Parts: sequence; structure tokens; C-alpha cells
Amino acid sequence: AKNQGKNRYSVYTSDLLEGAKDEYRLETDLRKAVEQEEFVLHYQPQINPRTGKIIGVEALIRWQHPTLGLLPPDKFIKLAEDNGLINPIGKWVIKEACAQNKRWQDAGYPPLKVSVNLSTQQFLTSDLVTYMENTLEKTGLDSQYLVVEITEYMAMEYEYSLKVLKKLKEIGIGISIDDFGTGYSSLAYLNNFPIDYIKIDKSFVFEIINDQPSAYIVKAIITLAHNLQMQVIAEGVETEEQLDFLINQQCDLVQGFHFSKPLPVDELERSYLNGNPN
Ligand code: C2E
Ligand code: CA
Ligand code: CA
Ligand code: CA
Repeated sequence: AKNQGKNRYSVYTSDLLEGAKDEYRLETDLRKAVEQEEFVLHYQPQINPRTGKIIGVEALIRWQHPTLGLLPPDKFIKLAEDNGLINPIGKWVIKEACAQNKRWQDAGYPPLKVSVNLSTQQFLTSDLVTYMENTLEKTGLDSQYLVVEITEYMAMEYEYSLKVLKKLKEIGIGISIDDFGTGYSSLAYLNNFPIDYIKIDKSFVFEIINDQPSAYIVKAIITLAHNLQMQVIAEGVETEEQLDFLINQQCDLVQGFHFSKPLPVDELERSYLNGNPN
């Protein structure tokens, strides 16, 4: 048994070393990726479930790695947050999402709101508001077509966050609380932060049919949001049953694999925009 333990231990350490080497390589690669802009945005439709119309899209980043292929954000966002690369990456996301949305408008597609995810670190960077303002000006996108998705963690820096959000609001940028109910939620911020949308996390949506408590939570979130004059977006809608439940509960917008995965630009245009002419 002792022997076995020792073997297991050595296997474990060499795995750890491998893991550390991989992580180091990935970090080196990520620096290069930032310089060479090896990222792409995929866009997931946000749909009015009563009309079936696309109202907006959420921009979700992927890394086109030269040898590993297309990497999803959970493979590199955490790393980027740890080494500070999230700031240049986050700026690229804002710039690209605004430019793409303007290209769609210029091409004559019906105007969409584009939502971008902000990491906490990026949100707390002092030049965020200026950067967003400048980017809107440079790309020519009207601020009403840009939404930022922030998480409840940002409410922990209460005074600072309030200041930033008020400035974004003044510019005309929409504000959405992502992953609502999964983080640090004191709820105290809800009546003071200028919030337009609450996004119900997919972990609740997945359970609404089979788990009574999740259904109650979702109903309560929708009622709360509507009483506070906010709109609700449900993410992770995968089935007809979930969709029916959300329609019955007056959920404003839905997003999920039932409608579409996040799509590259050309596929989104083919599937959602061409069939929806001005
Ligand atoms: P999130 O903001 O909560 O985004 C929703 C995630 O759920 C996306 O994964 C999306 O593809 C996935 N999803 C959407 N509908 C469904 C569904 O019906 N079923 C299931 N199983 N999943 C669904 P993705 O694209 O892998 O992104 C993961 C996370 O990475 C995002 O979670 C967000 O926190 C982060 N992320 C993505 N893009 C960015 C970015 O540009 N900047 C930052 N800071 N974070 C990003
Ligand atoms: Ca999001
Ligand atoms: Ca989520
Ligand atoms: Ca998130």
C-alpha cells in the first residue's frame, strides 16, 4: 500500500509539472495572441420570445490558437485575469463588438444591441469609461446599441462601481447584471445602480422544469426586476418546456441553444439577419 501511495504521488507531481509547463506556454502564447489579435467574437442571439425577433447579440470571445485550434474562454480568461492581459483583451472585445455592430447597421440590417462581458478587473480600470466613449466615437456606433454585462462582484466596490455605472449610463450605454443570483448578492445595489437588464444564470434556467425551488427563484427574479423597471434576460434556454415557462412568467428576452449557439459573424448573418430584412 505504501508503494502504491508513492507511485501515485510521483504520477501526481509529474502531472503538476506538466500542468505548470502547459500553463507557462499558454501564457507566452497569450501575450503573442494579444499583439497579433488572434481572437474572434462569436455572437449569440437574444430573442424576444413572444415575437421570435432577434433584439440583440451577446459577444463571446474565442482564441484562434495557432496549433491548439479555437479555444473557449474558460481556457484562457482566468489566466488573462491573473496576469493582467485581460485589460488589452477586454479592450479588443469592446472595439471589435462596436465595429462589427456598426458594420451590420451600415449594411442595412435592423439595429441590434451588442452586449459585451466585462471582467471585474477591467471594470475597475480607471480608463474604462474614456475608452468606451472613445471607441463609440471612433467606430461611429450609437451608444444605445452597446450594453455591458457586469457581475455582482463589482457591487462589492460599491461607491466606485456606482460612479462608473452612472457615467456609462450618462453616455447611454446599457447595463446588464450577469449571472444574477450566483455571486455576492446583497441586493442593496439594485435600487441605486442604474441597471437596465438582469440576466438569469443558466444554472437556474436548467432546473426550472424539474426543480420547484429553481422555478420559484426564477419567478421571483422576474417579478423583482419588473417592479424595479428592469428587463429580464434568461440565458441557457435549451428546451421548449423552459421557453414556455419563461414566456408564461413574462420573461422579456431569452438566449440559449434552443435558438442558437454563439455563432461566427457569417453564420449569424446567414441564419438570423438575412431573414429579417429592414
Ligand atoms: P457567460 O457570460 O455567463 O456566457 C454564457 C455562456 O453560456 C457562454 O459560454 C455561452 O456559450 C453559454 N451558453 C449559452 N446558451 C447556452 C445553453 O443553452 N446551454 C449551455 N450549456 N450553455 C449556453 P462561453 O462562450 O464558453 O463563455 C463562458 C464565459 O466566459 C462567459 O459566461 C463569460 O463569463 C466569459 N466570457 C466570454 N467572453 C468574454 C469576454 O469577451 N470577456 C470576458 N471578460 N469574459 C468573457
Ligand atoms: Ca455574459
Ligand atoms: Ca452565466
Ligand atoms: Ca459570466
